[in-house]
Amino acid sequence: MSNTLVLTGGPPWGFRIVGGADVDQNLVVSRVTPGSPAAKGNLRSRDILLAINGTILKDASRAEAEAIIRTASGNLEVVVKLATAWDAKPGRMKAADPTWVTLAQQLEKPRPVGQTGAEGSLVTQGKRFESAQERPTVAEAEHPVLEPRRFIQSDAEIVCNTCAQPISGGEYSTVEGINFHKECFICAAPNCQGNLDAGFIVDGGKAYCVTCHNKYFSQPCLKCNKPIFEEAFRALNCQWHLSCFICTECNQPMYDGVFHMEGGRVYCGEDHERLFGVTCYACRKLIGPGDSEMNAIGQKWHDRCFNCPKCRKNLNAKRFVRRGGFPFCPTCK
Ligand SMILES: [Zn+2]
Ligand SMILES: [Zn+2]
Ligand SMILES: [Zn+2]
Ligand SMILES: [Zn+2]
Ligand SMILES: [Zn+2]
Ligand SMILES: [Zn+2]
Repeated sequence: MSNTLVLTGGPPWGFRIVGGADVDQNLVVSRVTPGSPAAKGNLRSRDILLAINGTILKDASRAEAEAIIRTASGNLEVVVKLATAWDAKPGRMKAADPTWVTLAQQLEKPRPVGQTGAEGSLVTQGKRFESAQERPTVAEAEHPVLEPRRFIQSDAEIVCNTCAQPISGGEYSTVEGINFHKECFICAAPNCQGNLDAGFIVDGGKAYCVTCHNKYFSQPCLKCNKPIFEEAFRALNCQWHLSCFICTECNQPMYDGVFHMEGGRVYCGEDHERLFGVTCYACRKLIGPGDSEMNAIGQKWHDRCFNCPKCRKNLNAKRFVRRGGFPFCPTCK
């Protein structure tokens, strides 16, 4: 499903993109400036750009897409796959993906009058949302809020949805064929476990309070598309389960939070060094065969880059104080 957003009042439009066909990634919105034409037009971070002003971006690099945006005159009509609805897999939608085919048909056909969004409005499957507030949340769009019925006496061999134990004799609640022990009628989010009397949403077979469902399911893990209840790995304006953000080579998670990107792929420090050479911790550039390098504070540096971040004095073979992973001179510490 794609949506056409009409941005008015720019440039500057107030959004940034990452990815591109040249690095085998979807073109993804990485940042939207609050209050900008992009924000007013309902563009959100993590939306996938599919087309701009009638040009399909299937094979476009980021630079090409940016050129189209820069040279646009008048409104910017952006077709996106919404961040809340997309299948959130890394990499790129296949050329044969039905989204592209539908999009090509859509853009070729002249549109009936009234189908284009008015200023800043969002047209989605014929229904028009006039403001950002009316954009449906994941919960409303895909998962209805269920009202609990009061607890009744059990009389059959049924199983509790929360603890998977049989319910026999005691009081239980049943909603749309889903059953709970009275004491098990709680939100499935591990850090909530609040009572579900105010209504709940069933997702992936589990019952969540509305607050938790909105919170955890609106920004799922970019790799496995499941909610992240524990600490998340955040990078590139997206988030993953710690166990889902792994090195392309060794499949290990980034335990220390340090990772490298090459051609749209993620590598751990060790494999990156093995495949692409050693990079300097300060300038992030390669340490070439002719460069003099040094090891300090658990990192590799060009000799010339081992400087006090404050006064820029070179600290190679000098006394320094370690702070936040960088060497400070005794004066600046
Ligand atoms: Zn139970
Ligand atoms: Zn909850
Ligand atoms: Zn995950
Ligand atoms: Zn690795
Ligand atoms: Zn350097
Ligand atoms: Zn200094």
